[in-house]
Amino acid sequence: MTDHTSVKNFHLIDQLATLTDHRERDGLNMHLAQMLMDVIKPLSISVSLVMSDRNDYRWIPVLHLRPDASIQLRDPLHADFLSLDQVREGTPRFRCLEMNLPVAVDAAESGATHLTILPLFVGGAKADSGIIEIASSNRLPLHELAIVDRMLHVYRNMHSMFLYSERDVLTGLANRKSFEETFYKSLHENPNFYASWAKGIAPDKNIDRRSSETNEHFWLAMVDVDHFKQVNDKYGHQIGDEVLILIARIMKNTFRGYDRVYRFGGEEFVILMRSAWHDTAMATLERFRKNMEEYLFPQVGCITVSIGMNIINGGDPPDVVCNKADQAVYYAKRHGRNQVCSYMSLVENGLIETDVKDGGIELF
Ligand code: GH3
Ligand code: MG
Ligand code: MG
Repeated sequence: MTDHTSVKNFHLIDQLATLTDHRERDGLNMHLAQMLMDVIKPLSISVSLVMSDRNDYRWIPVLHLRPDASIQLRDPLHADFLSLDQVREGTPRFRCLEMNLPVAVDAAESGATHLTILPLFVGGAKADSGIIEIASSNRLPLHELAIVDRMLHVYRNMHSMFLYSERDVLTGLANRKSFEETFYKSLHENPNFYASWAKGIAPDKNIDRRSSETNEHFWLAMVDVDHFKQVNDKYGHQIGDEVLILIARIMKNTFRGYDRVYRFGGEEFVILMRSAWHDTAMATLERFRKNMEEYLFPQVGCITVSIGMNIINGGDPPDVVCNKADQAVYYAKRHGRNQVCSYMSLVENGLIETDVKDGGIELF
């Protein structure tokens, strides 16, 4: 082996080894794109994911890299869903996901560029699948395609470990750990950073807690199942578990695909949702409360929930926001359960007091 080849091989192995150092998704995606840029030297690399809201599937571009520009990232939590391109059958991207194979497109009309589309994950064109697109002057030769394929193999293994660590095993919802990560990364630390893709604006430190793509506020709701201990006591733990799985399903069907639903632990759930107004956020939660009330759980019958909600604003860390929503849940529990209470309305109406350290009531 020549010195040149062994240096090249070492570089490749070094890149792959460093890929496995990543512990969060953006870092992993950026490293993958930069590694491919280094090895293939294409014109650009893009990553797009599939987002869904019920049966509406859309592409969200989450990363774009060109050799002469810094990397652009976009956070799905902030995306203006209806402005995204729909996933259409028969398109090269769709075929790539359906066949789980690379698809080469000779983009003749646009001149000299070729596009190679590769599936990021396996499993077809469903929510949370995605593709990577490599634009190049010429078609990628087979040996380069083989290198990309092996790199994606390592990427997928890493990614499935992330997924496993972010999921609640019983319900399949996201777990509490991933709630805290999302909160800090997307809402607390630098919420406008990602949106710089959409609007071409620089990240702004003077944040109000809105999605800069949609101008909507973020809201947090805590859900606690009413008298759940009685379900376990009367029907057994296994039936209790089945009820929790069905509640998770009702939540998935009630909230929009771009809202986030978490199992916080036990019979407690958290929803991170976007809405322009307090009343529309309340109406969505009321719809969920009603769906729960009307659902007949096999063997058990009717089960209700108490919900507390609050706006996410200022530089509130997750524990402060959760604590306020929790106070609203507590109020709902003490006043008959099976209801949605807003922390802000309760404070405004003098029904609960704010913490002195909060410095008073926030505006909404
Ligand atoms: P409240 O209306 O005041 O919320 O009453 P509750 O009975 O729901 O509240 P409590 O906190 O007393 O009980 C919660 C119960 O949830 C106790 C525990 O046995 C049950 N639980 C927690 N995690 C699980 C789980 O993973 N599976 C099952 N089956 N039960 C669980
Ligand atoms: Mg509880
Ligand atoms: Mg409970």
